Formats: sequence, C-alpha cells, structure tokens
Amino acid sequence: MDVDEIDASIRSGKAVCPYCGVGCVITAKVRNNKIIKIGADKDQAPNFGMLCPKGAYLKEVFDESGRLKYPLIRRHRGMAPTRVSWEEAIDFAAVRLLEIQKEHGRDSVGFYGSGQLDTEASYLFTKLFKGYLQTNNMDTNSRLCMSSAVAAYTQSFGSDAPPTCYDDIQHAEVILIIGANMAENHPVLFQMIRKRRVKGGNVRVVVVDPRSNPTAEFADVHIRLAPGSDVAFLQLLSKRLLGIGRMDAPFIRRRTEDFSSYAAHLKALDEEVLLKTCDIHPARVDEMVEYLSTPCRLLSFYCQGTNQSTQGVEKCLALQNLHLQLGEIGKKGAGPFSLTGQPNAMGGREVGYLSHQLPGHRLVANDAHRAYLEGAWGIRPGSISTEPGLTAVPMFQAAEEGEIRAMWIAATNPAVTMPDVKVAREGLRRAELVIVQDCYFPTETAEFADVLLPVAQWGEKEGTMTNSERLVVWSEKFLDPPGEAMPDWWIASQIAGEMGFDGFDFASHEDVWNEFRRLTAGTSCDMAGMTDERLRQAPMQWPCPHPRHPGTPRRYLRGRFATESGRAKFMPCAHKPPDEAADAQYPMTLTTGRVAQHWHTGTRTMKVPQLVSQEPEPFIEIHPDDAARHRVKEGEWIFLIGRRGRTYARARYTSRIRRGLLFMPMHWGESFHPETNVNRVTNPALDPVSHQPELKCCAVRIEREEKRASLTPV
Ligand code: SF4
Repeated sequence: MDVDEIDASIRSGKAVCPYCGVGCVITAKVRNNKIIKIGADKDQAPNFGMLCPKGAYLKEVFDESGRLKYPLIRRHRGMAPTRVSWEEAIDFAAVRLLEIQKEHGRDSVGFYGSGQLDTEASYLFTKLFKGYLQTNNMDTNSRLCMSSAVAAYTQSFGSDAPPTCYDDIQHAEVILIIGANMAENHPVLFQMIRKRRVKGGNVRVVVVDPRSNPTAEFADVHIRLAPGSDVAFLQLLSKRLLGIGRMDAPFIRRRTEDFSSYAAHLKALDEEVLLKTCDIHPARVDEMVEYLSTPCRLLSFYCQGTNQSTQGVEKCLALQNLHLQLGEIGKKGAGPFSLTGQPNAMGGREVGYLSHQLPGHRLVANDAHRAYLEGAWGIRPGSISTEPGLTAVPMFQAAEEGEIRAMWIAATNPAVTMPDVKVAREGLRRAELVIVQDCYFPTETAEFADVLLPVAQWGEKEGTMTNSERLVVWSEKFLDPPGEAMPDWWIASQIAGEMGFDGFDFASHEDVWNEFRRLTAGTSCDMAGMTDERLRQAPMQWPCPHPRHPGTPRRYLRGRFATESGRAKFMPCAHKPPDEAADAQYPMTLTTGRVAQHWHTGTRTMKVPQLVSQEPEPFIEIHPDDAARHRVKEGEWIFLIGRRGRTYARARYTSRIRRGLLFMPMHWGESFHPETNVNRVTNPALDPVSHQPELKCCAVRIEREEKRASLTPV
C-alpha cells in the first residue's frame, strides 16, 4: 500500500526534471509543503520509471536558506540589497529600462535567458524584447549549448530540431555517439541504450570522443580522435563508404539536392591527410566502415562536443551529410539526433528566444515573419528590428565596452559560464542596470545585480517544456514557493504591463500557452493542436496541427523536407583546426565538460550532499605521461595558464585521456574559490554561422610552483 493511500494530508504531483534535456518526468509526494518522496512513474513518457541521481535527489534542493524569497534592490553598488515590495521592484525595473532605452537607444538593453525557463516565460520575454522594446538583443545560454545544431538542421533540412525520437533507440542497428558523454550528461537516455543492448538484438555502439569516459567504455568501438577533427573523421568515413558504393541512390535522387558536388568534394580529399588529421589508427575507421557497409539503421547522437566549436555547424553538417548519403533519415531507428543540454532548450527555440529567431521557428531577418508577428501582437508595422541582435558572447562584450547599458538575466549564471569570463563579469560591473531573476541566492551573477527578483522553482509553478525529442510536457504545481517568489512568466508580464504595453494582460500561464501555440499554426513546429487540456492528459510531440492530431514522433517519414524544394541539401564542409593551437608557450590542449553529479554552475547540485560527496571539488584529468613530464603529483593542486587567464584545480591521473589533452569540468565557479572557474581560460572565439563559442578547446600550460594560499581573489 502506498503512503498516500493511508494519509490524506499527502498530495502528489509531477513535473519535468529541471536538469538535462532528456526531460524526465519526476513524481513527488508532498506533506505540509515538504517533499517526502521523489519517484518516477513506469508508464510515464519519456523516462518510464527511470531517474538518474540528480533527479532522484531533487528533494534535497528545497532548503529555504539558499533561496531568493523576496524582491531586493541594491541602491548603490557595493551595498547589500534591501527588501522591497513587488510593486516597488517592478516599478524600478520598468522605469530604469525605459529610461536607459530613451537615453541610449533601443539596443542599449539586453536580455540573457536560459533553457531552464519554461515556454510561457520564454515566449513573454521574446514578445517583450523583440516586439515591444524593439530590440533583438536577446539571447540565452542555448547559444553556448546547441546553436550549431540549430543552424545545421535549418541549412540541410529547412527546419530546426531533430527528426528522431527516443523510441528510435529500439530500432537502430548502429548507434553513433559523437561529442556527447551521454552516460554522464544524459544518463536516462543512455540507460535506454544499455537496456537495448542487454535485451540482445543486432545493435552496435560506436563512440567518437578524444577522451574516454563511461560512454566510451560501454562502446563496441571507441574512436579517440584528435580534438576538433570531427569534420575530417566524418569525411573520411563518408568517403570510404562512397568508395565502396555505400549510398542510397534512390533516396538521394528523389529526396536530396547537391549530391554531385558533395561527392566530388569527398573524392578530391586525401585519405591519408584525413587520417593524419584525426590521429587515429586506420583499424578504427575500418571497423566503422564495416558496420555501415551494408544497409542498416544508423542513429547518431551528438551534443556539445560537436557544437561548442568554431567549426560547430560544419561538424553537424558533415554528420547530416553522412545520414543523407546512406538514406538513414525519415524512418524508424535512423537520423541525426542532437541532444539538448537543458530541460527546455527546445521550447526556447520554438518561441524564438535566440537573437535571430521569432516565435514558431520564424526569423527576424524574414519580412513576412516579422509582419505576421507584428499583426498578431497588434503592434505597429516595423516594430521588430530587421537585424539579428547580439548573440551571447558579443552581448557581454558590448556591455564591457559600455554599449549595452542594461542587462536582464533570468535563470542562468553568466558570471561563471561565459568563455573568457572576466569580460562578462566586467560587463556586468560596468552596466548601469542589472536585473537578475532566479530562485537561488546568492549566485555569482547576483553579486552584480541592482534588482533581484525571486522565482518559483521546480514543483512550485505550472508550465510547459519541450525535451530533446520534441515532446511537450506539462508540469504541475504541488508546492507553494517560499516567501514571495513568483513564476517567471508573471514577472515578465508585470514589468511589461508597468511599462505601459498592451498585450501582457495574462491571468494564467494557460493564457500565455494558448496565445503562443496558436502562433505556431502552419509552422514547422506546429503546436496548434496541443491544447492545455490535452497536455494535462499526456505529453505530445510536435508537429501537432489540430486538436485531433496525435502528434509526430518522427519527422520527414514521407521524404519531404522543410526546405523550399522539399529536398534535403548536401552541404560541402571543410576541416579547419580549432581556433587556438597548442604551441611552445601553451603546449597542452584543454577541453571542458560536465560530470554526472553536477549541473552547470552547481547552484542546485552543490546543495545535495549525496552528489557533493562524490565530486566535491574541481579537478583536472591528466595523462600519467604528461604528469610525469610536468612533474605533477596525483592529487596536487595545479594551475592552468592560458592566453586569457589562469585556473586552478586538483590533478587527477587517468589514462582515459589522450596525451597532450587535459579535461576540466565547468561546475566550480567563483563561489567555490576565486580561481577555480575553468572559464577564466576558455576561448570566446565563435563559429562564424552559429556564433557558438569554442568552449571545448583552448591552449594552456601547467604551472605548479605557486601555493594555493598565495592566490589573489578576483
Ligand atoms: S537524465 Fe536528465 S532529465 Fe532525467 S533525471 Fe537525470 S538529469 Fe533529470
């Protein structure tokens, strides 16, 4: 007998996990506004009873001492913020934003949001900034995560988002995981792959990653390529397959365009050069070629390892080219599947929260798209700016240069996460107005805030989120937020209303959802049929154009793509090395990433003793041969010195990493120690198309002479 069957004071609810893009639905039992049990329903998509430790320990993050509970205003920098009423905070934020725009122009303000925001909040921020404040200086941490995948999907298939779904794992014959440590970063999805293999059947798993990790250890083949050589590897594989005639000629003829120039480009490449670029044993490529040499269902997963690169878009395109060549798309068990890092990164893309986007996968650069939204929102024609706004890294650079005067930051911690983080921190210091809305306090970003707005967190609000497989899930409210915390959408609507803008008079988040879903009608992410009543019954995958439509687990099944011609495009690619090469002064390459126990900057997971005890402090993985060369002892605290700064962590020997390569996770910001943030050394160089920074690769040297006690706080 379950506990709530004998105790009427217990209530229950379910909501999307606030961590990764797998989007597990977590159930909770609550008594006296306290969670007493966390679980997962075995019949509930997408996780069917599974949770990883981050989700399973979610109960631990509700300690009120770490919460932002009341609106605060800091009257003078350097002083402690003081409690104010919601009315005062809303009035202050609204008046100051409008004053700064009036004095310095509409592009003097910027918004920086997050894939942690629900769809309703993301939509209202987009409407407010792009429609009413008339600036496209609105971007989010999704720019740092998967904007390269967005650009590549759009270029090849005419529409953002994967064609695939989680059920494809059950039908794939070869699973290629490239640049994604799924076992640690998308654990429940990886558990589905494990289960598929345990059940037996014909499935091979190939992992392509410069570093060994729990994902690679599970693979049939691990291809430990040189950092940044993904395009060369994928071209080598495609060329070898083309050389033995492995292509789906009928599919290519009927469903694609530009194959001949793609094939000619591949043929002209030198295999030896490609192999040397990847720095891998030829036998590894032979194995992969053998796996794919006969028709088989190919499912590819990829994430920040491909995306966070100055070649991010080309890497994604090279992978999509391989799928098109083999015809492995638009059918069960096949397709290129980019993973989202955050619970609603997909939903944010749907509402257009990146600086070049508008709601419904529309674009600010498209005249018809702008005109449609101006009409729908009832605003003057020409209100929406025609140029994409500043993306994440340039927005903080503009703040540092004094061009952006006001920053509104929601549900993210850029004072830790931006590459070359001192620029972002200086930008926040220099800005005249910094508004931070978050559920936690203190955070590194909150240190710079003039206005702090308390937000309801997981379980304390209703709202929708879309996971990696385009599954839209409705989350319930089953806890009362502490103090005066409110949902993000409510805060956006109140400040917009205070500014005097019509169009933000929403009584509930259902009202916001209904306005947004109607705007998607006829678009590639059509959710017009997803009424709030239907979503309360069960999650659904878009496109879902009318209220009787069952949703769409797989796209392009009829071979018609979202391009103007209806055909997918082969996109020629060229390998280029990472922006920053190791040299005599900086002889090691540093790559960054995450560990299973923590999430982003640790504002949640560092509150969970069970997770912190497993990974309590920052570390640097180093090959024992490199450690010997640099006389680094196991467990010793060492500095990494880069071209932009230095960082600091404990050395961890492992032969899982290539010689010459170091790995340091991203979770320990300035709250832990003034110098343990890895982004003090990372490279802000951008992919020229997606503007995603190259967080995965920079050059450093090791120094071990200085003692921890001599560190100077920032
Ligand atoms: S796999 Fe991701 S979504 Fe699922 S419980 Fe873990 S962190 Fe949450």
